[in-house]
Amino acid sequence: MQIAFDNSYTRLPDRMFRPVAPAIVSKPELIRVNRPLADELGLDLAGLSDDELAGIFSGNVLPEGAASIAMAYAGHQFGQFNPQLGDGRAILMGEVVDSKGQRRDIQLKGAGETPFSRNGDGRAALGPVLREYIVSEAMAALGIPTTRALAAVLTGEDIYRETLLPGAVFTRVAASHIRVGTFQLFASRGDGDAVKALADHVIDRHYPEAKTQSAPYCALLNAIAARQAGLIARWMSVGFIHGVMNTDNMAISGETIDFGPCAFLDEYDPGKVFSSIDRQGRYAYGNQPGIGQWNLARLAECLLPLLDDNEEKAVEIANAALVEFGRVFQERWLSAFRAKLGLHGEAEGDLDLVNGLLGLMHRSSSDFTLTFRALGKVAGGAGEEALRVLLGNGDDFAVWLSLWRQRIDGQGAPEQIQSAMDAVNPALIPRNHRIEEAIQAATYNDFSFFERLTTALQRPYVDDVAYDDLRVPPAPEERVTRTFCGT
Ligand code: AMP
Ligand code: MG
Repeated sequence: MQIAFDNSYTRLPDRMFRPVAPAIVSKPELIRVNRPLADELGLDLAGLSDDELAGIFSGNVLPEGAASIAMAYAGHQFGQFNPQLGDGRAILMGEVVDSKGQRRDIQLKGAGETPFSRNGDGRAALGPVLREYIVSEAMAALGIPTTRALAAVLTGEDIYRETLLPGAVFTRVAASHIRVGTFQLFASRGDGDAVKALADHVIDRHYPEAKTQSAPYCALLNAIAARQAGLIARWMSVGFIHGVMNTDNMAISGETIDFGPCAFLDEYDPGKVFSSIDRQGRYAYGNQPGIGQWNLARLAECLLPLLDDNEEKAVEIANAALVEFGRVFQERWLSAFRAKLGLHGEAEGDLDLVNGLLGLMHRSSSDFTLTFRALGKVAGGAGEEALRVLLGNGDDFAVWLSLWRQRIDGQGAPEQIQSAMDAVNPALIPRNHRIEEAIQAATYNDFSFFERLTTALQRPYVDDVAYDDLRVPPAPEERVTRTFCGT
């Protein structure tokens, strides 16, 4: 296959990456390739057999002109600085410019050891590969900025993770794989030239508007802050928990990246944690905005020398960016939840109305997704009983409902309010127990449920009767309480 690579990252100083070739695997077998995404990237897959595709997306056959590098980075993991991380099992195949003129990375994950593998084997197990495939494509369909899934391939080789598991390679597409941790690596070494080269690259690639500002690096920091704040507001609005928001897992582009132990809320609880390694709840659902700001502070520290020659002034600028993050987050969050409640315009008391509902949801442990969808039905003039069952039939529910009714009264036709709400409140999310079910079946070589789930999740805002079963929260015995990084 010919791919029109244009590898800009390899034109940066060579201490930013290491050349590495993917490992050859014994029996690559295609699980799935995302043809619409391939089209978007200008990849011509027509005429390629599944075996040929498996050869390419396992890393066995590297297309001509591939970059074939592992990127260097550092990062704070659960608050502790690790000066040397880097792509330990990911290899950048290369960059292409897509049909919209956007530069995109194509990266193989689980493609073998790299100079950054440390004690790892460079491989990925089938389970986490399918999880990332399902969740990243679901996020894209929900309209949330995210890396994408281009392909998943079995390697035909078992890998050891407490037990033997099928190995797989995941092909990921990202606006770039530059992380907060990429800046941290060079800043921690006192390599100001590399920090500047990276910042310039990021401006060209993701924030070209910063170039026209009088202080481009301040504009860059503020723009990254705003995008990250907007992203986390979107996560919150669908009940998404990233699970491992280390600084090496925060993309500078503002896309959701590194789907490890991520999960969606079933019942609403701001303290909810799924990740088995997050024992303190650092990355709990409700902590995400605060952690996003903490990560941004780490980025701002790296950029200080670029913000102003005067250190005090540089710190002031950095602090202002952190304040801006908080402001933008609050604004985007409220605007997302206004839409979820069907509130047009802005009125005093909206924040209380939103918090009032969230409080009811928390107290009654109501399902996050079902509740908002049910509220939409009530706005449309039906289904009050279903909402009452979800939220508990207390006086506080009745009081809240009448306040909400007063607020949406006179906004327009009920069906219009409902359809606007249905367009932002998903009917279908990738529920944890369904992801597990898909992984379990796939481990026994049955990919039919994975296919069905992935297909269903392409239209998350539609009530499709064919997928009624996928919308139901887990029964007590189906509950998945822990998710794993799978590394
Ligand atoms: P993560 O928590 O998955 O984002 O990974 C943290 C770091 O560990 C990154 O530098 C990864 O490249 C590295 N890593 C994760 N799994 C493996 C593996 N199986 N082999 C080598 N490195 C790994
Ligand atoms: Mg990572």
